[in-house]
Parts: sequence; C-alpha cells; structure tokens
Amino acid sequence: MKKVKNLIVGCGLSGIVLAERLAEDKNESVLIVDKRAHVGGNIYDYKDKNGITIHQYGPHVFHTNNKEVWDYLSRFTGWHNFMYRVKAVLDGREVNIPFNLDSLHKVFPPKLAEKLENKLIEKFGFNVKVPILELRKSQDSDLEFLAQYVYEKVFLGYTVKQWGVKPEDLDASVSGRVPVYVSRDDRYFQDKYQAIPEDGYTKMVERIINHPNIEVRLNTEFSQIKDEIEYERLIYSGPIDEYFDYKFGELPYRSLDLQFREYNKPYYQSGPQINYPENYDFTRSVEYKYYLDENSEKTVVSFEYPEAFVQGKNERYYPIPDSANQELYNKYLNEAEKNPNIYFVGRLGDYKYYNMDQTVARALELYKKIK
Ligand code: UDP
Repeated sequence: MKKVKNLIVGCGLSGIVLAERLAEDKNESVLIVDKRAHVGGNIYDYKDKNGITIHQYGPHVFHTNNKEVWDYLSRFTGWHNFMYRVKAVLDGREVNIPFNLDSLHKVFPPKLAEKLENKLIEKFGFNVKVPILELRKSQDSDLEFLAQYVYEKVFLGYTVKQWGVKPEDLDASVSGRVPVYVSRDDRYFQDKYQAIPEDGYTKMVERIINHPNIEVRLNTEFSQIKDEIEYERLIYSGPIDEYFDYKFGELPYRSLDLQFREYNKPYYQSGPQINYPENYDFTRSVEYKYYLDENSEKTVVSFEYPEAFVQGKNERYYPIPDSANQELYNKYLNEAEKNPNIYFVGRLGDYKYYNMDQTVARALELYKKIK
C-alpha cells in the first residue's frame, strides 16, 4: 500500500494551493488526483494553433483586493495587467456593464438621462454601487422606472438563461455581483489588483505544483485509488454530495455548453466580453485574444449556453445559491465535521460561488488552520 501524508482530490486552484503549502511550508508528502486529463480544474487554458490563449472552461479574469493572495500567486507567475471591461447589447446598442451613468446616457434621451442621473446621485451618492434588487425598492417614481428598465433589460433575461430562475429567486449576492454603479467608472471590477497570468493559468498551476514532495495523478478518480493509498489527511475539492454518495440528495449545479467558434478575421467584436441579456440563447460571447493582447490573423470566440448540470453529461460550473440548497449543503457539512482528518474546499467542496481570489484565500486560511 502506498503511503502519503496528504491525499488531495482535485487539481484545481484549491487543491494546488494546499498542495504547495503542505509540501513547501510543512515539508509533507502530497498526492493529488484528478479525474480529468489536465491540471488546473476550470482555470485550465492552452494556446491554440493561432497562438491565442483559450480558456477551455470559459472566461477567467483575475481580480482581488487581497494582497496576501496577490503576493502568493505572484511567486508563480508574472502578470499581464488587465482591467476588464464588459458591454451588454441593450436594444441593439452596446452599453457598459455594470450599468453606470454612461449607460444611462446611452439608452435614454438627454433630458431624461440627466434627471435620472441627478436622482441617483442625490439618493445614493456618487461612485456608489446599488444592487438591482435594492434599486427596485425605490419609492421615487423615476427611480422605480429606471430600476424596472435595468431589471428587465440587463438582469431578467440573462439570469433566466443563466440560472433558469428570476434574479429575486436566487440569493441576492448573485445579481449583487454586478450592481448598478452610480459612477463613470466603466470597469467590470474595481479591485486593486486585476490581471491575467502572463503565460496563462496552466503555466502558473504547473509552477505551483512543481515540487519534489508533490505527485500528481491525472485521469484518476478518487474512488479508483482510495483503497490503494494510505493517507493521514484528505483534502477533497470535489463535490461534497458525491463524497457522501448523495445520501441526502444531489446538490444542484448550473453547467455551460461552451461553443468555440473561429473567425477568419483579426477581430470579431468590440471588446473581450459582450453580454446578450435580451437576445439569443447564449448569455455572452468572449473573444480570448483581448486577454493577453495576442496578435493573430484569425480570432476565437466562445458562446455560453447555460444548462442544468447532469451527471455524466456535462461539468459542474456554478453552485446555485438559494436557501433550500444551502440547507441541503449544511446537512453534508454536518457529516463532514464528524471526521477531523477530512477537509472540503473549493466551489464544489464548500458549495460556494467563489471567485478565484476567494478560492485561494480560502485555501490559504485552511492551511493556516491545519498548520
Ligand atoms: N448578470 C445579469 N446580466 C449581466 C451580467 C450579470 O443578469 O449582464 C447577473 C446574472 O445573474 C449573472 C450574475 O449577474 O449570473 C453574475 O454575473 P458575473 O458576470 O459575475 O458571472 P460569472 O462571470 O461568474 O459567470
């Protein structure tokens, strides 16, 4: 029987950060297994034949205010500084997302836009973010009108496509990720650090796990090897319900059918990401060459068609944050807490809609606890 101090299930961001810390800081042996044929989980990317770095599981733009996370990852990658800018097509016109004061002037006639702008600033202040579900509570009839417009044009169609339910039927934090912004700042994120690993995410991942104490086995299910390996600590970044054989029922996820198309021209769209709340069956199109400013004669764009996650058919992308699912997750968490040598992490282990920096922060925190 092979002996290892730590068995880590999942070679995504959570698993690799914990592997690196345990291997480097604690000088312990680590075996990481992943059922996929590549490292990195959903941040996996690769350079295609055009020299464009493609994000196989959809767009990943790193952003954080957490200096510890930024400094940690910076040990393994240089950065291509990149402020994300996103547009949505509303009534056939591209406007800034988050919907901001410039968006307001794009979609309304000048006098009305000015009136709405003044009312927004008066009520909320300037440079303030207002979640759409908050804005909808406005009593003022002009702000009510604006809230209804933005709700219908920006959020309703997109959210029904993405999640299968209306914004108000999800945890408020979901639509709150993209609040209305009473500002002229047209960036998608306002974090202090915003960048993309200059050689891609996969290279960064490879450097993180390149350590004599770390062994990686790909194409390997946990269930295949769990009886062949003797381990003291198990870190499980796979789905927590799967680990417990779904004994309380399945935790639901949303998945994506990502369709990549190549175009025989240098650029396809005006910027890296265009959202389509109102039209088409896809939510957004992403043109990858913008991310690292890569030059090529052709271009590659992905279109995201959301769908329910079904075992054996597609991949888990998004936990679905609502109270019923949280309750179900809590039952599993309760089970998990009975064994002090097993740790669940990541989007699937914690059943949380983490951003990349939150995933890293969570892994670093867990490491400190273990230590
Ligand atoms: N959203 C929306 N319209 C948009 C952008 C976002 O309705 O144009 C809502 C939608 O519910 C989406 C959520 O806000 O799932 C979070 O958006 P984000 O861009 O953070 O999603 P991610 O990049 O994580 O898929």
